[in-house]
Amino acid sequence: MISEYVQSILDINPNYDAQLLEKAYRTAEEFHKDQRRRSGEPYIIHPKAVAIILAEIGMDDSTVAAGMLHDVVEDTPYTLEMVAKEFSPDIAMLVDGVTKLTNLVYESKEEKQAENIRKMFLAMSKDIRILVIKLADRLHNTRTIEFMPDHKKIEKCTETIEIYAPLAARLGLYAFKYEMENISFQVLYPDAYAKLDKEMQNRNEVRSEVIDHVIAEVRGLLDEMSIQYDIYGRSKHYYSIYKKMTFQKKTLDEIFDLTAIRVIVDSVQDCYAALGAVHTRWKPIPGRFKDYIAMPKPNNYQSLHTTVIGDNGLPFEIQIRTKEMHLVAEYGIAAHWKYKEGIQSDDSESKLAWLRQSLEWQKDANNSKDFIETLKMDLFSSQVFVFTPKGDIIELPSGSTPLDFAFKIHTNIGFKCIGAKVNGKMVPIDYKLQNGEIIDIVTSNSSKGPSIDWLKIVQTNSAKNKIRQYLKRENKTASAEKGKDMLEKAVRKKGLDLKEVLKAPYILRAAKAQNFTTAEDLYNAVSYGGSVMSKTIKLCEEYYHEDIQLALKKQEEVKIHDKKPDRKKMAKGVSVKGVSDLFVRFAGCCNPVPGDEIIGFTTKGRGVAVHRADCVNMLSLPEADKVRIIEVAWEDDQEDMVFDCRINIVAEDRKGLFADVSKACENMDINITGINAKKDKSDVTTMEVTLAINSIQDIAKVMARFQQIRSVVDVYRNNS
Ligand code: MN
Repeated sequence: MISEYVQSILDINPNYDAQLLEKAYRTAEEFHKDQRRRSGEPYIIHPKAVAIILAEIGMDDSTVAAGMLHDVVEDTPYTLEMVAKEFSPDIAMLVDGVTKLTNLVYESKEEKQAENIRKMFLAMSKDIRILVIKLADRLHNTRTIEFMPDHKKIEKCTETIEIYAPLAARLGLYAFKYEMENISFQVLYPDAYAKLDKEMQNRNEVRSEVIDHVIAEVRGLLDEMSIQYDIYGRSKHYYSIYKKMTFQKKTLDEIFDLTAIRVIVDSVQDCYAALGAVHTRWKPIPGRFKDYIAMPKPNNYQSLHTTVIGDNGLPFEIQIRTKEMHLVAEYGIAAHWKYKEGIQSDDSESKLAWLRQSLEWQKDANNSKDFIETLKMDLFSSQVFVFTPKGDIIELPSGSTPLDFAFKIHTNIGFKCIGAKVNGKMVPIDYKLQNGEIIDIVTSNSSKGPSIDWLKIVQTNSAKNKIRQYLKRENKTASAEKGKDMLEKAVRKKGLDLKEVLKAPYILRAAKAQNFTTAEDLYNAVSYGGSVMSKTIKLCEEYYHEDIQLALKKQEEVKIHDKKPDRKKMAKGVSVKGVSDLFVRFAGCCNPVPGDEIIGFTTKGRGVAVHRADCVNMLSLPEADKVRIIEVAWEDDQEDMVFDCRINIVAEDRKGLFADVSKACENMDINITGINAKKDKSDVTTMEVTLAINSIQDIAKVMARFQQIRSVVDVYRNNS
C-alpha cells in the first residue's frame, strides 16, 4: 500500500524506492504523532515537506528517506541504532549528521565568524547530503517562520541569511538561497522590503507593457517553429537588489537597466533555433551575445545570453536555455547529480565524484574567494572547528589536540599550557578535538614548558615549529651558559682579569671574527670544545691591548691640544722609561713626591698613573694586571714644583690641636691644602693633612715637627 504522500514523490520521479520511502514515512508519522508544529498542525508535515524538497531537487533514496526521519532521533524515542537496523547504516549516518548540525550551539557575531560557522557546517557534513538535508530543513522552517514568536523570527532569519543562504549558494542551490533570503529579508527589514516591493511593482507597471509586447512577439516566433517553451520575465531577488543598493550604493535603475526575458526550451537544438529567430526579428548588440552552451561557465552554468534592440529603441536581454540547464542554474550540484548520476548512487565512489564535482563548481567566477576557501578545506573532513570560551571559532586540522589550539591562540599560551577543559571537563593534552567543542586552556606560570614529547602530540606545523624553536633555544641557552663558564675558567687559569679581558664588546668582536652572529653562538660553540676557546681568548687579549694603546694615543692627542694641563693632574717631572710624551699623571691614592720610589700603571683611557711603589693599590694588584706596570723615573728638575702629600696625625683630642698643626706648617713655610679630621669614641683624633710639598726631604722634616706637638701619638704618611 503506497500512501498518497509517497505517491506524490513518485510523481516527481517514478524511480524512487517506494517501499523504502513508505516505511520511512510510516515510521516518522508514528513517532511524531503526538507532536505539533507551532502552527498547530501535526508535526509530520515538516519532515514530509523536507522530503518533498529533497525529491524535487533529485536527491537519492537514502537522502529523501533521511529527510523524513531527520527529526525522529532528536525529538522522539526512536534511536539511531533503530534507524541503522530498520533502514540502513547510510540513512542512519545521514540522520546522525543532521542531528549533530541541529545540536550545534553557536552565536554568529560578525562576518568572519559566520564564515567560520559555514566552514564548520561543511566540515561536519562528512557527506554533503547531510548539508543538503539540513538546508532543506531550514528552507521549510523559513517558509513557516510566521508561526514563530518575534524574537525567534529575528534570530532564525539572521542565521538563515548569514549561514544557510551562503551555504546553499556554495552548493549551487541558488533557488534555496534566493527563497531563504527573500523571506528573511522581509522579516528582518519589513520597511525596506515593503519600499522595494512597491518600487519594483511601479517599475513593472511601466515596463509591463514593453515586456508583455516582447513576450507576445517571442511566443509568436517560437510557435511558428513548433518549439515547446516556457517564457517569463526574469525572477527578482529582492535581497540581492537590496544589498546592491545598500552596499554598492546603486540605484534601482542602475541595477535593472535592462528588460530581461527568460526562455526555457526542451533541447540544445531548440535553444539555437530560438536564438536564430530572435536575432532575425531584432538587431543584436555586438559583443553582448554569450554562448555559455558551447562554452559553459566554470560552474557548469549553461545558457545563451543576447541583448537586442527592441522596437521602441530600448535594449532588452533574452536568456535561452534547456530545462536541464535551468535546473543546474537553480539547484547546482543536486541537479547535476540528478541528471548525470541517476538517483541510485549509494556507492561511495559516486559520492566522492559528486563531492569533487561540487568543488569544481565552486569555481564560480563571481566567487573565486569562496572557491579557494572551499578547496582549502580539502574535502571538508580534514578540518575541525572548535570554540574558545568566548565563542570565537578556531579552525584546526582534524586530529588536532588542545595543544594545537593553545598555540593557535597565542604562542605563550602554548608554552604555559598544562591542560585543557573540553566542554567543562578536563582532558589530557593529547585529546583529539571534535567539531563544535568549547576548549578552555589551563595555563600555569610555573609550567616547565614544551618538552620533546609535545612534538608527537601536536598536529599543526605552526605549533611544531614553535615547540622546536623553544627546545632549540632552551638547549642553546644551556650550552651557551656552559661555554661561557668554560671560557671564564680558562681566562682565570691564565691569570688574566675576567672583567677586563672578557668584556662584552671584545666577546662580540671575537664572535664576529670567527663568523658567529652573537655572543651566545660563540659561547655555544665553545661548549662543544675544540680550538674556539683558545682562539677567543687570544683575540680578546689582543683587543684588550689594542684598546690600551688606543687610549694612550688618544690621551697623547689631548695632551698636545691641551695648552694648560692641570698641574695637579699632569705628572710633570716624571718620565716613562723608553717612551716620551706619554700622558703621565699622579694617581689620586698615594701622592708620590720626588724622591719616593715610583712605578707607572697603564690605565685605559687615562694614560699612565704614577703610584708610589709602596701604594697599597699597587701591592694588591692582581697578577693579570701586573703586565700593565711600566717603569717610570723622576726627572732631575723639579725645584719649582710642589706635590700633594697626605700625612696622618693621630692625637688625643684637645683644644688648639689644629692651631698647633697649622702653626707648625706656617713656621716651615709649607702650605696646607686640605685637612680632614675624625674623632673616635675614645677621644682619639686622626687628622689627615694635605700639604704642598717640594720633595721627600721636606716630608721627613714636617713629620718630625708634627711628632713634637703635644698629645700627638703617631704621625705617618698615607700610602693609599
Ligand atoms: Mn527539522
